[in-house]
Amino acid sequence: MKGRDYCVVPTVDPPGSASASPLSPSSPAAEPKKKMPQRKWEVHPGRNKFHCNGRIMMARQTGIFYFTVALIVVTCGLFFGFDCPYLAVNLTPAIPVIGIVLFVFTMSTLLRTSFSDPGVIPRATPDEAADIERQIEVPNGQPSPSYRPPPRQKEVVVNGQTIKLKYCFTCKIFRPPRASHCSICDNCVERFDHHCPWVGNCVGKRNYRYFYMFILSLALLCVFLFACVITHIIMRSQKANFLKAMQQSPASVLEAVVCFFSVWSILGLAGFHTYLTTSNQTTNEDIKGSWSSKRGRDNYNPYSQGGIVKNCFAVLCGPTTPSLLDRRGLVEPDPTPQQYTMQMNGTGVRLGNYGAIPTQTTTVQPPAQPQQETSEPSPNEEIPSS
Ligand SMILES: [Zn+2]
Ligand SMILES: [Zn+2]
Repeated sequence: MKGRDYCVVPTVDPPGSASASPLSPSSPAAEPKKKMPQRKWEVHPGRNKFHCNGRIMMARQTGIFYFTVALIVVTCGLFFGFDCPYLAVNLTPAIPVIGIVLFVFTMSTLLRTSFSDPGVIPRATPDEAADIERQIEVPNGQPSPSYRPPPRQKEVVVNGQTIKLKYCFTCKIFRPPRASHCSICDNCVERFDHHCPWVGNCVGKRNYRYFYMFILSLALLCVFLFACVITHIIMRSQKANFLKAMQQSPASVLEAVVCFFSVWSILGLAGFHTYLTTSNQTTNEDIKGSWSSKRGRDNYNPYSQGGIVKNCFAVLCGPTTPSLLDRRGLVEPDPTPQQYTMQMNGTGVRLGNYGAIPTQTTTVQPPAQPQQETSEPSPNEEIPSS
């Protein structure tokens, strides 16, 4: 696999800038050789790593991810090598079948979480950024030449709840509801949950369901391995004594130790994410208490579908939105407003696959009438600063 790790390209000038456009039409004769056209992943401004010509996208720091993979593979390898044969013969042949199914499911959900775009929102092009700046300036009156205290906040109403959209100084956009800027990957991510070093990626709108499946299946795998290993040791110790049984199968002891120490945190995490899923919240919102009643009696989660089953369905079975990053697309020679497939809706809030982003956004708005129907599939409020 070919890997490429690259430096941050100055904030928003990627495509088309001197370095990024080898095909500048201005001086065709001056170019001795035509370079291969660059793909957009090669000029992606966030701190990400891409493999397989942009098909695989991860965070830049992946050391802990490889540790996770090694821990799962080695522990399961020991299990299949030392415990499985004994248990298949002396207990039931279903043990290796269940083990393989759990292992394959866990690994595929892990890799799907780690290798996919979590829901990164493309940064504004220079034109788009200038457009937003102009809009910010207007409500401010005469802009001071030096510092301009900005009303860099917009408000939208989602299901009767007023939500603030903050301006991201790095991405030069107003973050859509529920989005947040990951300081590790340096990207704004839709329905940002958290950055998970164990999976080597952000967890957001596009990979949360796989992350949740991974945590659940890993918890199951861990309990299963632990139960099998203990059974194996006990069955052996019935024939000899306990110490001898452990000497006969030292791998089982190692597996038991690994499972024992990891199963508690994994079970806790699985429980926590089950709570989040059933209430349609993100880790980010839960930590900040975005929908906590401590913030006021009227504060409630506008994204809740009104029931545990409905929330699970919305989070885990809703339609998957396509990536907003055209990672494998070619960098065009000239930056034009059509560079990205995204468009602005005239308020500085990107329109993409957010579903219906409220259009009546204003800078200072008294509690607005929830005019629009409840067609918001995603969205949120307060976002941590970048
Ligand atoms: Zn951002
Ligand atoms: Zn991240």
